Amino acid sequence: MVDLLDMTAQRAVHYLQGLDRRSVAPTDAAIASLARLDQPLPDQPTDAEAVLALLDGTGSPATVASAGGRYFGFVTGGALPAALAANWLAGAWDQNAFCVTSSPVAAAIEEIALRWVLDVLVLPPECAGAFVTGATMANFTALAAARHGVLERAGWDVEAQGLFGAPPITVVVGAEAHASIYKALGLLGLGRERVVTVPVDGQGRMRVEALPAVSGPTIVCVQAGNVNTGAFDPVQEICAFVHAHDAWVHVDGAFGLWAAAAPARAYLAAGVADADSWATDAHKWLNVPYDSGLAFVRDSDTLRAAMSVGAAYFPQGDKREPFQFTPEASRRMRGVEVWAALLALGRIGLADLVERCCGYAARFAEGLQAGGYHVLNHVGLNQVLLSFGDDATTHKVAAAIQADGTCWCGDTVWQGRAAMRISVSSWATTEEDVERSLGAILRIAAQQRDAV
Ligand SMILES: *Cc1c(COP(=O)(O)O)cnc(C)c1O
Repeated sequence: MVDLLDMTAQRAVHYLQGLDRRSVAPTDAAIASLARLDQPLPDQPTDAEAVLALLDGTGSPATVASAGGRYFGFVTGGALPAALAANWLAGAWDQNAFCVTSSPVAAAIEEIALRWVLDVLVLPPECAGAFVTGATMANFTALAAARHGVLERAGWDVEAQGLFGAPPITVVVGAEAHASIYKALGLLGLGRERVVTVPVDGQGRMRVEALPAVSGPTIVCVQAGNVNTGAFDPVQEICAFVHAHDAWVHVDGAFGLWAAAAPARAYLAAGVADADSWATDAHKWLNVPYDSGLAFVRDSDTLRAAMSVGAAYFPQGDKREPFQFTPEASRRMRGVEVWAALLALGRIGLADLVERCCGYAARFAEGLQAGGYHVLNHVGLNQVLLSFGDDATTHKVAAAIQADGTCWCGDTVWQGRAAMRISVSSWATTEEDVERSLGAILRIAAQQRDAV
């Protein structure tokens, strides 16, 4: 076993050291080679070192180099070294983070990590929190608490009685709400389409003056950080408006909430702490390995009521039992990487990570504008949204950039128009990475322009 684990660590290090020299997207040949893995399940055992050699030899070249410094797709950050190493050790520990008895260390570390995240995100310290797989599940978890909260005020126990015969809940979303909000609403029986949609401005922000009159059980879903533009809904004004009518405000802040951790960007997140629940990701801007998201609910009892589960052999003490706050029972201790990342960065290191990404985004915007290309968003955070001309040209440029391999940027549609998105979200990105990537984007865009 010692040899196997040593060998695997060496393979991992070799992989990471090679990222700078390879294409960010895997080559077609590397993807085609994955067919080698597709053998009938053998009857006989395979030596573990041979299993790992096959995995590394065939799998590593077919990865997307998102752990490197020139991946700008999907608001994806690479894993910080301390977080990756903590993930390795915790893998060896193989703890079940279900409850305090099943893993005292997991319960203790996750409680500290939750407190630290609330601190750096400047959210109310009394919030209850849950470690989940990502912002989709964090939206689901927080909205389950919202569903409980607004129906409890109307005298209805939704966990016991379900939604059949319940007082109707009005759900308000912005026209640019993230797809995961609709998914969460569907899973919760609130309906993907049974929503009141508030129109947005050119950056994707909800227009406060277009908010509907609010009465009865109501959940308003706002966004801190639009996945295309990085823009924030005017949370403070929305909270002031709807809290007067007892509505619940939920914030989807998968990456945007982290603006609060950088003093120079914190103004963007002004007022988010006025909400009732929040969803965020740690695997995006905190740069921990997948899968890692967090749900927070101001009223701890509401989250517990929505997530609690009972069985005679489950612990019922007065300690914080993790399973009382999450959809899952047994799960890995994903809070350990959050803890390690925050300890390794410190407040200043985290602020610097966020600020650096925003600065690089601004540099991309400036360089591309100087090259004559159209930046579609106000670049206040880490997102740059670009058009290279008509929709077909923009698609072509994005595809050519992905195939070139110097960097990777995603294709998207912004308010009916094709766009390319540069999302700067990784600790691993350096100034040199930005200049190299900018050079490649300008070169490829010019080639496409000359070709038409
Ligand atoms: C990425 C993102 C999500 C979904 O997050 P997952 O971690 O992929 O589940 C939700 N909302 C916003 C605003 C996002 O950027």
